[in-house]
Amino acid sequence: MTVRTRFAPSPTGMLHIGGVRTALFSWAHARKNGGKFVLRIEDTDVERSTPESVAAIMDGMHWVNLDYDEGPFYQMQRMDRYKEVLQQMLESGHAYRCYASKEELETMRAEQEARGEKPRYDRRWRPEAGKTLPEPPAGVAPVIRFKTPLDGSVVWDDLVKGRIEISNEELDDLIIARPDGTPTYNFCVVIDDWDMGITQVIRGDDHVNNTPRQINIFLALGAPLPQFAHLPMIHNDQGQKLSKRRDAVSVVDYDRQGFLPEALLNYLARLGWGHGDDEFFTMAQFVEWFDLKNVSPSPSRFDRDKLLWLNAQH
Ligand code: GLU
Repeated sequence: MTVRTRFAPSPTGMLHIGGVRTALFSWAHARKNGGKFVLRIEDTDVERSTPESVAAIMDGMHWVNLDYDEGPFYQMQRMDRYKEVLQQMLESGHAYRCYASKEELETMRAEQEARGEKPRYDRRWRPEAGKTLPEPPAGVAPVIRFKTPLDGSVVWDDLVKGRIEISNEELDDLIIARPDGTPTYNFCVVIDDWDMGITQVIRGDDHVNNTPRQINIFLALGAPLPQFAHLPMIHNDQGQKLSKRRDAVSVVDYDRQGFLPEALLNYLARLGWGHGDDEFFTMAQFVEWFDLKNVSPSPSRFDRDKLLWLNAQH
């Protein structure tokens, strides 16, 4: 099977160096295996997505010289496809309309909390054999929820983190379309990864909680499951998550500070990944040696001095 990986940034800001590292590892995995690397712009958050950010991502990819084989695909241009699958899932019984109002859900939540329970949607609109559902209230636009399996668990062998198992009891009946009919994030990602034939989903480990939800949707659709590789976060020298306020996080900052794109890539390549004691390597060597198995599962520390040193070697 041809290896196909993707980089799927949300255009809600500058291209973050954590994003560049994700793109780099995804690119390297495709290049190493003679596969294809796809660029997908996840622009469904219309409030936060901007054309300036799309341009910044494209410029950043260009600056670091990470070439992609397909795309950019834009999720906003794929709405018809998502809606088609939503309809199929309603028809096949893998999804259902939920008419619970905000007020009802708040009351439900308050009651659960008062009983000392973990708040969760009580599945009142979920069709089950022998259950009678109320008449849908007039004039209420429903959300669409995914019918999460009631028992069992989701297990995957993460290529970086090892085996992960999450019980379905932990997962709610996920909202996959909003009252205005637009699909939600986790749903679009699954349809895209399926349609684009992605074989390895390589992304930041801030998405690890989404993975069991996405796997359940893949299984419901009968779509082939990709493998997953969740890359650890990059921390600053204080051991904190990189933040815009404290740290240089955007690739443009590195450009402005006079860093060479090759040095930044070379630095990011070795972050959380090692090949012996080699201090310096070319991109061709990186690709040749690259193996997701050698990516460390713990957070990496950003070391500016090392980057400065590398920059001086170029
Ligand atoms: N759009 C997501 C982000 O920018 C990435 C989603 C994914 O890689 O699955 O964080």
